[in-house]
Amino acid sequence: MRFTRLAALAAVTMTLVQCAPPPEPPPASPDPPPAPQPSTQAAPRPPTVSPVTAADLGATWRPGCPVGPDALRRVELDHWGVDGRRHRGELVVNADVVDAVVDVFAQLTALRFPIEKMQSPDRYPGAEDELSMRDNNTSAYNCRGIPGSDSWSLHAYGRAVDINPRINPYLDARGHFEPANGGPWLDRTRTDPGMFHDGDPAVEAFTARGWRWGGHWRTPLDYQHFELR
Ligand SMILES: [Zn+2]
Repeated sequence: MRFTRLAALAAVTMTLVQCAPPPEPPPASPDPPPAPQPSTQAAPRPPTVSPVTAADLGATWRPGCPVGPDALRRVELDHWGVDGRRHRGELVVNADVVDAVVDVFAQLTALRFPIEKMQSPDRYPGAEDELSMRDNNTSAYNCRGIPGSDSWSLHAYGRAVDINPRINPYLDARGHFEPANGGPWLDRTRTDPGMFHDGDPAVEAFTARGWRWGGHWRTPLDYQHFELR
């Protein structure tokens, strides 16, 4: 009984301790100097231009293609992303159009025109254009023919760029379109960021510099495609 009373007293004491107000907080110390804020935006970087070898080109090039690796350059440049941040991408283009490519992509960045991704088609199995397009990947050089033709595409010369291809699909006269997942964007009344429409500042950035836009063609319509002959 006595033990029980002691235990009860101890329980009350513990309860009192638990209910005691918390200790006073230590006096406030002066605020430390503000730490430098981490940059939320990568600093712009100038483009870099480098030569490429056949090994660098991987499956995008093979013997018999109309231009060799010595005529091509890898251009690494900044672009605006769909996330509203600056990204670094790469394009392989003809050495003759390097300056023109750098110039027009600088203008796209100034317009904050969003480009989802920009990497070599060689990142996709067999450098298969359909896979690159389905992934909405922006690319330039790829040794391939014009669909439905035995002529080389200007991509095989490094003189054409396809931008945001899933949302700017290719459509031929028979209604065949590429890529296979681009169907919703055949509706050109859509205004998703990164789509091209006649009269857009991003389209005019190209056409004012002498590029042709596949969206101006009658057939096929190739909304992703810009070329400089
Ligand atoms: Zn194209």
